[in-house]
Amino acid sequence: MKKLGFGLMRLPTTGSEADIDMKELCRMADTFLERGYTYFDTAYMYHGGRSESAAGEAIVSRHPRDSFWLTSKLPTFYLKEKGDQEKIFAEQLRRCKVEYFDNYLLHSLDERNYATAEKFGSFGYVAKLKEQGYIRHYGFSFHDSAEVLDKILTAHPEVEFVQLQLNYLDWEDERIQSRKCYETAVRHGKKVIVMEPVKGGTLANIPPEAQKLMQECHPDWSPASWALRFVAGLENVKMVLSGMSTPAQLEENTSFMGDVQPFDERENALVAAVTGLIKGKGAIACTACRYCTESCPKNIAIPDYFSLYNASLSKKDAGEEKKRYAALGEKFGKADDCIRCKKCERVCPQHLPVTEYLPKIAELFK
Ligand code: SF4
Ligand code: SF4
Repeated sequence: MKKLGFGLMRLPTTGSEADIDMKELCRMADTFLERGYTYFDTAYMYHGGRSESAAGEAIVSRHPRDSFWLTSKLPTFYLKEKGDQEKIFAEQLRRCKVEYFDNYLLHSLDERNYATAEKFGSFGYVAKLKEQGYIRHYGFSFHDSAEVLDKILTAHPEVEFVQLQLNYLDWEDERIQSRKCYETAVRHGKKVIVMEPVKGGTLANIPPEAQKLMQECHPDWSPASWALRFVAGLENVKMVLSGMSTPAQLEENTSFMGDVQPFDERENALVAAVTGLIKGKGAIACTACRYCTESCPKNIAIPDYFSLYNASLSKKDAGEEKKRYAALGEKFGKADDCIRCKKCERVCPQHLPVTEYLPKIAELFK
């Protein structure tokens, strides 16, 4: 199987997050399949709960079931009482219009969600689904330290694969621990699926001096392609997910991901240098996954404000960002509406100190 998977979490929309542009998605899915790529990845809560039904309409209803792989995930963070996982799984089959999932994951395990999964016997539940033919393979996606990953894989050697946040910016990052997590998975003999290879778009929009370095080395590689190639070249990586939002992104990614080679010494040194340049700018490492916005009682547009803040870092005048901040503030809570309840921080897979950043943003854009 070619190593590029279509992540259905940043789909084209016609308005709000839940208004998926179905015509565009159908065209993109068709092109993806025509080019020999077959892997699609959705989840219960992507696009305000609409991603799975969009997959059902755009992919499952329009293509033979054996011509693609469809993956979805059990939202462990939504499990409150006995019977919840059964209800959710039945709903997922209905939404996606499938009789089975090719891959099924316990979604977003960290220390807390792992405890929930154990409490509700989720590992045993997915093993049973496999026995019954409702899923073909199972694993889990993960957002915590290598130590926690080691603990889970030691307790559950039966899982077939893990989905990890790997990218060159987080490779040596002490909070995300990309390299350490990858090495832990390899030590346990697990296949790896990569999420956030471009870190929510951060590695597609790098500072000009970093772009220059990349162009000197490979004039025809875009910054996003450097990011995808870096992880796709790792030996145990079997699939790299990219949340493609436009036909142009799909066009570019499918043009080179069919044949990617591991990085040589020079290329590895270059991404390490680029990492230093990006981190030196002080950007907020938000991937725009939007897990936080659901839980915010003040409806603060957290990832949008972080994105404006990051965009302002490379400019002398943040006038444009200020205007966009004011416009967002008409529809959503403003940065200084935060009541520091920290619900956002508890669900943020990047472990970002949201409540420390928001006052800075409020001050910058006031
Ligand atoms: S800490 Fe602030 S931003 Fe985070 S959920 Fe609470 S109100 Fe929203
Ligand atoms: S702040 Fe965290 S949870 Fe919210 S969008 Fe960014 S990475 Fe995701």
